[in-house]
Amino acid sequence: MTERCCNRPAEQTGREEIKQNLSVIRQTVAEAVEKAGRKEPPRIMAVTKTIPTDKINYAEELGIDLLGENRVQEFLGKYEQYSPRSEVHFIGSLQCNKVKYIIDKVSMIHSVDNMKLACEIDKRSAQHGKVTDILLEVNIGEELSKSGVQPSELKQLAADAAQLENVRVRGLMAIPPPGGGEIYFARMQELFEQLRLDRPETDVLSMGMSADYAAAIKYGSTLIRIGSALFGYRNYIK
Ligand SMILES: *Cc1c(COP(=O)(O)O)cnc(C)c1O
Repeated sequence: MTERCCNRPAEQTGREEIKQNLSVIRQTVAEAVEKAGRKEPPRIMAVTKTIPTDKINYAEELGIDLLGENRVQEFLGKYEQYSPRSEVHFIGSLQCNKVKYIIDKVSMIHSVDNMKLACEIDKRSAQHGKVTDILLEVNIGEELSKSGVQPSELKQLAADAAQLENVRVRGLMAIPPPGGGEIYFARMQELFEQLRLDRPETDVLSMGMSADYAAAIKYGSTLIRIGSALFGYRNYIK
């Protein structure tokens, strides 16, 4: 994936640039919301992978109140240095045997695509006396190598996960194929609306990253996940 759409490498961005980047993002979001005729703007998540905690905490000073974590190991190493104000969601692919390390530290997990994982989250949540919000990740491009439930299997997974007592299905998440265009966001919006027919309480549609959040907003995204457009691009693939 090319991530050089926006700005400079993350190692080089300082406070002034992060501040500038965030104001561009807020402006772009406001315009997309207006253009789409929406009442509510999406929530802006700062995606923290590879970013040092001082920059993350600075983003929080600027009003960011939601962080997205990809990697269990990296998260555990940084977690204690976060200013404790922010809500943290886990957005990366998650193995069952790692759930226990993060369950008490995150309020939502975006990347649930099978019942084995949902059951593990349920079990560990019960042990902590909590209910964990989850999103079902959809492989909307139906790409062979990608995580996410196939669109045709989503309804069944949602029904099964809804049976779990310590898990609450809040909505859907997707990472469409890079450069895939708006068609995938349109399909996600359809799936989300179908899900809401059965389960009107679902209220989160997590889609849109640095390169495409304006398009995602057009198709009803309620949560955009922004890394490189805020902190600078990462010098590695993914
Ligand atoms: C890295 C990542 C993002 C943010 O990507 P950018 O293109 O840097 O905004 C969003 N969602 C997930 C799941 C990610 O892994």
